[in-house]
Order: sequence, then C-alpha cells, then structure tokens
Amino acid sequence: MINIALDGPSGAGKSTLAKAIAAKLGYIYTDTGAMYRTIGLAVKRAGIATDSKAEIIALLPSLKISLGFVNGEQKIYLGEEDVGGFIRTNEISAYASKVSAIPEVRAHLLSLQRNIAAEHNVIMDGRDIGTVILPNAQVKFFVTVSDRERARRRYKELIAKGEVTTEQEVYEAMKARDLQDSTREIAPAIPAEDAVFLDNSGDFDTVIETALRIIREKTNQSERDCLS
Ligand code: C5P
Repeated sequence: MINIALDGPSGAGKSTLAKAIAAKLGYIYTDTGAMYRTIGLAVKRAGIATDSKAEIIALLPSLKISLGFVNGEQKIYLGEEDVGGFIRTNEISAYASKVSAIPEVRAHLLSLQRNIAAEHNVIMDGRDIGTVILPNAQVKFFVTVSDRERARRRYKELIAKGEVTTEQEVYEAMKARDLQDSTREIAPAIPAEDAVFLDNSGDFDTVIETALRIIREKTNQSERDCLS
C-alpha cells in the first residue's frame, strides 16, 4: 500500500489539499482531526469537562468511531450517527485539542488509523501521521501557511457555516490551539525528520502539481528500494 502522511497546523488547508490529491490518485482520504473532534463532541455531549481526564478515559470504551464513504465524501460516525455536521465549530475545535493531549485518547484512535493505512492506498491528514501513526509512510508532507492567512481561511469557513465570530477571535483561538498541539508531551504536532515542507500559500493548482511530483518521485524511489 502507498501511505502519504500530510501533517501541519490547523487551517493550513490540509483537508482541501489531501482531498484533491486523493481524487487525482484514486486514494482514500482520511481526516484524523475529525476523529478527535468526534471524541470532543462525545465528551461535550456527556457533560464532561475537558480537564476531567479520568472521566474522559472512562467514556472511551463506549465510543465507536468509524469512517464511511458516500459518493466519494468521507463520513464520520459516532455509533450509527453521522456527526459530520456537528464537529466543525470553534467550540468543538477546542474540545478536540484538549482531548487529543490525553494519551489514552490517542491510543484509542491509533489502530483505527493504522488499519485504514494497512488496507488502502491512503493520504492521511493530521498532526502526528508522519511521526507516530505512519512512520514508514512513503511520502510525508508538512503543510505550512502564514498564521494570518490561516486565520483568514478558517474565519471564512466558519462564517460560511453561520458561526458568529471575528477574524481576530479565530486567530487567537488558532494560535492557542497550535501552541497546545505543538508543545504537548505526547505526539506533538511537529514535522517528521524526513517530511517535505509544502508551502500552501500560493496558487492551489501549483501546490497540487508540486505535491504530485514529489509523490511520483518518492513512490518510484521506494519501489526501487523494494526491488534492490
Ligand atoms: O485537523 P483538525 O483541526 O480538524 O484537528 C482538530 C484537533 O485534533 C487539532 O487541534 C489537534 O489537537 C487534534 N489532532 C491531533 N492529531 C491528529 C489530528 C488532529 O491531535 N492527527
């Protein structure tokens, strides 16, 4: 199987990039952030505070998270319920960031993520895909965009969904989340040593072309490595 890891901070446009690359290559796209968001949603619904680690851990065995694909779109389920429409708010972003720092939460999702990669050619987007989940991925990208541009993009997304917020509020929440994600003890959101930095500030088609060229180079390379 070909595994492509696509890591980077929130709002860097990873999911749009990953979806486009997956469509071009005929691979599965996996959004691991959606899995953490779904746990965040379940924690919120259960009325558990994000600092009640023991209660969050106790909730985990009852949470069945799975992915599905309908007309090429990724769906995320909590039990039987499609929760895709509930997980992309600022509030759930904060829940996701908090719960994702708990080692047991990460362990709960690890095999789900690895199993997908073992069974499919996949482009998986997240924070620790290249470092922890798929250390042997043939291609690893770390996506970057300036902080202000990331906030602007996230703001537009949230407004389009009807959330009431300001660009500054999104910027501050995003920086707080980045800090939490990159400094946590477990699986910090940092580039893998062998990751290729992909600047996603410019023209989208050019970024995709660059990514596809790198994927071609790296996957030919690893086929050759396997043969030698
Ligand atoms: O990518 P997205 O913004 O949807 O992720 C939501 C949150 O889930 C992130 O802020 C991060 O805390 C967490 N996350 C993670 N590891 C991943 C993907 C997401 O810790 N692989």
